[in-house]
Formats: sequence, structure tokens, C-alpha cells
Amino acid sequence: MNYLSTRGHPARKRFSDILLEGLAPDGGLYLPEHYPQISEARLGELRRVYQEQGYAALAFEILSLYIDDIPAADLRAICDRTYTAAVFGTKEIVPLRELEDGFYLEALSNGPTLAFKDMAMQLLGHLFEYELGRRGEELNILGATSGDTGSAAEYAMKGKRGVRVFMTSPHGRMSPFQQAQMFGLQDANIHNIAIEGVFDDCQDIVKAVSHDAEFKRRYKIGTVNSINWARLLAQVVYYFAGYFQATRGNGQKVSFTVPSGNFGNVCAGHVARMMGLPIERLVVATNENDVLDEFFRTGVYRVRAGADTHETSSPSMDISKASNFERFVFDLLGRDGAEVRRLFADELGRTGRFALQAHPSFADASGRYGFASGRSTHADRLATIRDTWERFGTMIDTHTADGVKVAREQLQPGVPMVVLETALPIKFAATIVEALGREPDRPRQFEGIESLPKRVTVLPADAQRVKQYIAEHCQ
Ligand SMILES: *Cc1c(COP(=O)(O)O)cnc(C)c1O
Repeated sequence: MNYLSTRGHPARKRFSDILLEGLAPDGGLYLPEHYPQISEARLGELRRVYQEQGYAALAFEILSLYIDDIPAADLRAICDRTYTAAVFGTKEIVPLRELEDGFYLEALSNGPTLAFKDMAMQLLGHLFEYELGRRGEELNILGATSGDTGSAAEYAMKGKRGVRVFMTSPHGRMSPFQQAQMFGLQDANIHNIAIEGVFDDCQDIVKAVSHDAEFKRRYKIGTVNSINWARLLAQVVYYFAGYFQATRGNGQKVSFTVPSGNFGNVCAGHVARMMGLPIERLVVATNENDVLDEFFRTGVYRVRAGADTHETSSPSMDISKASNFERFVFDLLGRDGAEVRRLFADELGRTGRFALQAHPSFADASGRYGFASGRSTHADRLATIRDTWERFGTMIDTHTADGVKVAREQLQPGVPMVVLETALPIKFAATIVEALGREPDRPRQFEGIESLPKRVTVLPADAQRVKQYIAEHCQ
């Protein structure tokens, strides 16, 4: 399998080459040259693989369609090490829970950091260790986080050979639980850097360091951000696992609703659908930051300014632009790299928006590609959390609540609806208390983590000081 850039660059790469890279050289995102097709007979075989051999075996089958430069036995071993009941809490790894007739939650957040990002990041940790070992190289991952991504990356990379993590976060601005989760890690290859500033300062520092090509090369700086193809690929697997659990036979169609921010999660659903998984609708659920809902309703993609980006009670969906969206637009426009380059590199850069409503392909978004969308507000979240608790005795987090609210608006008779549960309520306790008047349950392994010793270095919002810290901690 070869990979190409969404902006038309002529180079073709293999999986292992793009694994450790970020953007393509022309600023585009990597996608496979084609989506392998799963016939109905093959879908039946995959269902049996999941039922009889488990999630890791299913992951191997899907991943090996896209990864042909890692020996099969090695890839299988990586999947087996990643997707264990010990790490993800259950044998199913992503168990489905039926709330009411044909309306399901798919649990993606029982990994080490209690958010769905573990599903991909845990695999990435094992893949990085494998590939760096094979090359005899090292990598220093530099990131900025306001919560979920940073902790998922740290729990995936902790103790891995050849990898160090330098994770910046805004000093004193993460929840006590999130701080305890990250700063409580005692592994020598994990470095928490609390920046005296806000999240944007952290991001600016990461950008400044990454733009220093000499420093980047010398200190082997890399990232694990959401545009990484391997992360997206790992997420394709749980659409299959969700489908198999929601259906008995392969004739049936299922819809998925996905709480969305950077469009990574739902883009994996798009890939699964392109492979032939019988998905009726892919419903994009946004919060008040409704860049994506606006696009699917109107055809206008308009990125927001910082001041226009709302701080909400589903903070992992607070985005100003959706970094994976370009992948879908590439498919929507018939894989016309020149047109994607014009839209994303020129028009968006110049005007902050582009409009596709008059484009002949726009109708395909809801037609051929099955997309629908909706938005949810703080009041909706509270009402949905309360309703789900009162009627079903199930406590859901704020992001999943956005999904449940929007999913209800998109139900079709006879089509099961699966809402992806993207985090556990304990991560967003303040809003749960506001909705239910009680604290969320805390999984046993997280009891008392706030009192663990904390490993964190506080630095001023100054890229130079962060570079100095990295240089001093790189051997
Ligand atoms: C990251 C995240 C999202 C958004 O996922 P995308 O892939 O960026 O669309 C939603 N919910 C939670 C809890 C998250 O951590």
C-alpha cells in the first residue's frame, strides 16, 4: 500500500515512512492510494475473527490491509500487546451497551486515561517503539495539551524504548484529576512542562520549536498529533467491532454518531464506510464550536478566530478548525489534489473560509458519503446527562452527551444507532455535579491519584527556555 498527499504532491510513501512524520512535504495530509474493499463474505469472516479471536485479531486483519512493510508476525504481536483486557478493562475492548431499543453506546474510554484517544495512542506507542528499534533511532515527542491528548500520549509512550515525551500544558489550568493523571507518572522518559500561560502559548511554543529546523533535526523532535495516519487507522477497527456487536448478520445497516472536534474519529468512520462496512449515516456531533455542523448544513467551511472559539463544558471538542477535515474534502472532490491545495492552502489562508454549496460534489456529502450533523449546547448537555441517568441509570460524560443529543435527532426507523462514548464522566466531574448533584464514580485504579507525588517543571512562556530544557534532558 502506498500513501499520497491530499495536496497532490507526486511522492508516494510506505506506511513506516509516514508513521513518524507529520504533514506531507506540501502541507497536505497522508491517505492511502485506495481503500481496500471488504466483500460481504469477507465481512462475515471478520465478524467471526472478532467473536472467536477477539479485538486484537480483528485489529491485525484491518491494519494489515494498510501496512505491508512490517512483517505480519510482528504486526500481529504488536496488536496482541496493545489490545488486552488488562489495559482496556474488558474482553470485548469496546463493549456495546444498549440504552433502549436499537440505541447503543460504544465504550471507547476504558483505556488508561479514560478517553477514546487511548484506542489509537496505545497502538502508536507500540508501533513507535518497534519502528525506532528497527531503525536504531530515537524520537523526542513535543506536544501541547489542555487535557486528553497529552495524557493519552504519555500513557502510551511511558517506558517505551527510544521515545521521550516533552508535554507542555498551561500551568494551573487543567482539572485536578487531569493534572494528577499526567504529573503522577513516574517514568523517566516522560517530561511534564507546565507553561506560565494559556493553551495557545503552549501551542505557539511547539510551533516555534518545530519551525527551528536545525534544532528539530539535532534533537529529533516529532509529534503525535491527530493528523497522524496510524492514529486514524487504529480508529477504523472499532467501527467494525461496533457494527458486529449491533448486528447479527451482514445485510443490516447501522448509523454512528461521533462527538467531533478535529474530525479524526469520524474520519475513521468514513474510511470504514469507504471499505464497504454497511454504515447508513455518519452523524457529526459538535458543541457550540460548530464549524463542522455549519459545513454539513450549508457547504461553508469557516474557521474561527481564537476569540470566536468558545470554552465549553465539552472542552475536547473546542476547536477553531478541524485538522483532519481536509482528508474528507479530498475524497468528496474526487481526490483532486490541485483543488484541495487551492481550497486549503490558498483560499482558507487568504479568507479563512471556502464554500462548496455550489460545487457539484457537495450533495455527495450527505448522499454518497452518508454524512449528517447537529450541534449541542451546555444546556443540552446537562439535560441529556440527567435524562440518560434518570431513565437508564447510565452516567455519561459531557462529550458523549453531545453525541446522544444529536443522535436522537437523526434516528431512522429500523436502523440501529451507535453513539461513540469518547470519555468517562470522572474526567469532567464539575459538569456532572451541575447536572446530577452528585460526584461521578471513580474507577478504582484512580482513587487517591491527586495525592501522588507530582513530576512537573514550571517554565515561563518562552520557546528558548523550553528548547534549553529539552537539550538538557535528551540523553
Ligand atoms: C479528542 C476528543 C474528541 C474529539 O475527537 P476528534 O477526533 O478530534 O474529532 C471528542 N471527545 C473527547 C473526549 C476527546 O478527547
